Amino acid sequence: MFEYAPAPESRSVVTIAPSYGLFIDGEFGEAKDTFKTINPADEEVLSEVALAGPEDVDRAVAAARRAFEGWSTLPGSERAKYLFRIARIIQERSRELAVLESLDNGKPIKESRDVDLPLVAAHFFYYAGWADKLKYAGFGPDPRPLGVAGQVIPWNFPLMMLAWKIAPALATGNTVVLKPAETTPLSALFFADICRQAELPPGVVNIVTGAGDTGRYLVEHPDVNKVAFTGSTEVGRAIARSVAGTGKKLTLELGGKAANIVFDDAPIDQAVEGIVNGIFFNQGHVCCAGSRLLVQESIAEELLASLKRRMSTLRVGDPLDKNTDVGAINSAAQLARITELSEIGATEGAERWSPECPLPDRGFWFAPTIFTGVTQAHRIAREEIFGPVLSVLTFRTPAEAIEKANNTPYGLSAGVWSEKGSRILAVADKLRAGVVWANTFNKFDPTSPFGGYKESGYGREGGRHGLEAYLA
Ligand code: NAD
Repeated sequence: MFEYAPAPESRSVVTIAPSYGLFIDGEFGEAKDTFKTINPADEEVLSEVALAGPEDVDRAVAAARRAFEGWSTLPGSERAKYLFRIARIIQERSRELAVLESLDNGKPIKESRDVDLPLVAAHFFYYAGWADKLKYAGFGPDPRPLGVAGQVIPWNFPLMMLAWKIAPALATGNTVVLKPAETTPLSALFFADICRQAELPPGVVNIVTGAGDTGRYLVEHPDVNKVAFTGSTEVGRAIARSVAGTGKKLTLELGGKAANIVFDDAPIDQAVEGIVNGIFFNQGHVCCAGSRLLVQESIAEELLASLKRRMSTLRVGDPLDKNTDVGAINSAAQLARITELSEIGATEGAERWSPECPLPDRGFWFAPTIFTGVTQAHRIAREEIFGPVLSVLTFRTPAEAIEKANNTPYGLSAGVWSEKGSRILAVADKLRAGVVWANTFNKFDPTSPFGGYKESGYGREGGRHGLEAYLA
C-alpha cells in the first residue's frame, strides 16, 4: 500500500459566521432559541443556528403564501431565468460549498466536490429547463402549482436533498419553506444567501432551521399544500398519519436495505469496486446503499478475498484531505446506532471483519466493516444500519437471489452484476425496487426518477416524473 502525504483542501475558502438566523421573506432574522452545529470530524463548534418555534414556522409559511401569487403567475421562462442563475452561482461557489458541506457533514471532500456539488448544480439546470415547458410534460394543457411546499430533508446529502426538493418546486411555480436536518443546517443557510444573490423574490424560498419539532410544525401547518419528506421510515410513517385527510399532497423518500447481487459470471474486479462504492460511499449514509451483498456461492470465496484486499486500501480520516475515501460518521447518535447494530450482528453469530485501520481520537468514526455468514433472520440483514457496514449473504440460483433480494420491507434500489444482458434484464424485472443498477451502483442523474416501493416511500423525485408531485 502506498503512503500518501496529506493533501488537505483549504478551509479558508469558506467563511462561516459565528451565528445564523432564520431565512424568512428574503431576510435573516433571529429566533428565541438556538442550537450549535459541529464538525463531526473533530467536534469543533462551527456555528450557532436559530431554532425555529411554531411562530417562526408560521411567519415562514405566511411569507411563502404571500410570495406564491407573484411567483406562480410569472411566465415559466422568467422562473427559468432565476433557476439558471441559481445553478450558475452554485457552480461558481462550488468549491466553497463543497468545503462547507464536508465540514458540517463529515463526508470526504472528494465526494462533496466531485459528486454532491456537480449534481446539485445539474439538478437546478435540469428543472430550469422544464419551467417553460410544463404544458408539454404530459400533465394536461395547463398544469397548476399546488401552493406552499413544506419540505424536510435529512443530513446525509444536505445540499443535494435541498436541490431535489427546491428545484422542481420552484420550476412548477410553488413557493417553499424548507427545514434542513439539525446536524447539517449550514449549506441550506448558504443557499439562502445564493437566493439573495440571484435576486429571487423574497418569500419564494424560506429556510427554517431546527430539529424534529420544527419539522413537525412545518408538515402539520394548515396553510401548507404539499409536504415532501426524506428521512427515516419511522418519521415518514408519522408524517403520513398526520397529513392523511388534510388534502395535502405528500411524497416520502424513506429508508432502504438494497441487495447488490453478484452472479458467478460477473467481472470480479469491477464488481468489487461497485460493492465498495455501494456501501462505503458517503460512509454508507445512503438510503439506496448496497448494504446487502448477495453473492453466488461458487465465487463467494474469491470475491470476498478480493473485497477484503480492496477494503484494506481505503483511507479513513480527515474529510478535507483529498485522498480520504471514508470520512466521519455524521453524529454521535448515528455512530451509537451503527455500533449497536454491529454488536448485535456479532452476537447473533455473523462473522465480523474490518481492515487494520487507525481512527482519529476526536470526532465520530467507524471502520469499514463486513459481516459474513449472515442469514436472512439476522437483524443486520433486515434493518437499515446507515453506516459503513456490509452484510454478506450467498445464493445458488437466480430464483433464490431474487427471493432473498425482495425479502425486505424496503424497496428503494438494487444492483445486478453479470456479463449476460439477458440475465440482468430478467432479474431486474423481478426486483421490487425503484432503481436497479446493472454492473454499476449509486449512479444519479437529474433526468432519472428516483423513489421507492413499500416502506421506502412513495412518489418520485427527479426527471419528468418529479414534476408531478408539485402540480395539481
Ligand atoms: P429522521 O427521519 O429523524 O430525520 C430526517 C429529518 O426529519 C430531519 O430534518 C429531522 O429534523 C426531521 N424530523 C424528525 N422528526 C420529525 C417529525 N416528527 N416531523 C417532521 N420532521 C421530522 O432521521 P435521522 O434521525 O436523522 O436518522 C435516523 C435513521 O433514519 C437513520 O439511521 C437512517 O436509517 C434513516 N435515514 C434515512 C435517510 C434517507 O435518505 N432515506 C436519511 C437520513 C436518515
